[in-house]
Amino acid sequence: MLLTIETTHQPATDLGYLLHKHPARVQSFSLSFGRAHVMYPRADEQRCRIAVVLDVDPVGLVRKHRGPAVDRYRLDQYVNDRPYVASSFMSVALNELFATAMNGRSKERQALVDRPIPLRTVLAVVPCRGGEGLLRRLFEPLGYDVSAKQHALDERFPEWGAGPYFTVALQQTVTIQSLLQHLYVLIPVLDNDKHYWVGRDEVEKLLARGTAPGPDGTPWLAQHPEKDLIARRYLRHRSRLTRDALARLAVEDDPDPDATDRLDDRAEAEIERSLSLNQQRVGSVLSVLKACGAATVLDLGCGSGGLLRELVAEKQFTRIVGVDVSVRSLQHAARRLRYDRLSEMQRRRVELLHGSLTYRDDRLAGFDAAAVVEVVEHLDPSRLSAFERCIFEFARPGTVVVTTPNREYNVMWETLPAGALRHRDHRFEWTREEFRVWAERVANEHGYGVRFLPVGPVDDDVGAPTQMAVFETNVRSGALTSE
Ligand code: SAH
Repeated sequence: MLLTIETTHQPATDLGYLLHKHPARVQSFSLSFGRAHVMYPRADEQRCRIAVVLDVDPVGLVRKHRGPAVDRYRLDQYVNDRPYVASSFMSVALNELFATAMNGRSKERQALVDRPIPLRTVLAVVPCRGGEGLLRRLFEPLGYDVSAKQHALDERFPEWGAGPYFTVALQQTVTIQSLLQHLYVLIPVLDNDKHYWVGRDEVEKLLARGTAPGPDGTPWLAQHPEKDLIARRYLRHRSRLTRDALARLAVEDDPDPDATDRLDDRAEAEIERSLSLNQQRVGSVLSVLKACGAATVLDLGCGSGGLLRELVAEKQFTRIVGVDVSVRSLQHAARRLRYDRLSEMQRRRVELLHGSLTYRDDRLAGFDAAAVVEVVEHLDPSRLSAFERCIFEFARPGTVVVTTPNREYNVMWETLPAGALRHRDHRFEWTREEFRVWAERVANEHGYGVRFLPVGPVDDDVGAPTQMAVFETNVRSGALTSE
């Protein structure tokens, strides 16, 4: 049973630091089911490949078997595919050999661990019950390029057809922690072998290995579209354990607020979590957009698509366009919207555009309303006037909803150091007065009226955590009052 992981990150031999295994040595480890050997078939500056070879001892396994006594006399205990295929044993081995990396830590090179690097993994033989389709459904939502070759059941008898075994290659620029967690959980899921005992601690292991940030920045397992199947198979179809695991995953399944930087997003999410402020913000923006009667809407700086998903669910909106300067965010949004599975009609209704809000863009003209949620504070102050013109002069939607943090509220968060902003990428955060002065000037210059609404719990002294301004063109609000 063989697994290789290769990188072209430079210097490629960094892989040795990431995995705490020296590239010049062949090392062997004793495990409960046999032995694991770790070596590097290639290790130079350009390319470094580590190989994990497992030597499973099937007879030893039977002797240690913990299941019911009758099972001990079954022939398939002795004659089976376990020594040859990547299965739960590979997971156990990865966990024991690379525990530090799987926990996202490094003794010497923490910055390296936190960085996505190009990684290509090959599983020489993996049983894939559910076929290539399932393989793709498990790995593609996590961002992998998947290639798979199915093997014949027996090469001497092609008429027997294909067997359940595949050679699988997975490629992605990803952190080593994420890769190891994905392999740890998903290899046994592919195998779906029900033969061995699963106890309660398997639920803990599953949850502990589902924590690395996924493509949209939140823990990967909670966001995985196949999380039900993953939990069921990982926990060997023990329904009570599966229910328990899924219930606990659901608690973590909060939409993320920003997606510019995964780690910072997590920090900001942590700060705001107690309020579930993100949900309140999305809710408030949505109700303003609905109330103004808009049919066509823009989500400017849509990030990973939390608001877009809510807009899509509302029939009132006949055309929904998300815009972002970050291609990665747009990819996350497309995934979150399951864009590739939308019908032709839905695709015409929802569109994602790559663009910047500081340049005139004619594609943004002619919409009823626009949301600009937690975006202004990401702009360089010197680009703010370009942003104002782009939206209020050129795109000129009837209604514009702008939200931004209220800096005064930051003192309310115990975890935020005094004077700090909520997110590393925030260029500034406004007080209520600063926001009001800015918004009123913009409204005056461009012929809009503006009103302000708090989002989140309002404190007597410092106000609400998020502030919202609703701009309406005078013409449009005139039309509304005359209806
Ligand atoms: N509206 C989303 C994301 C907020 S994070 C939400 O509430 O969850 C800020 C977003 O603005 C990021 O996705 C970032 O890529 C985008 N952004 C920053 N500057 C931008 C610009 N000049 N043009 C377009 N998008 C921009």
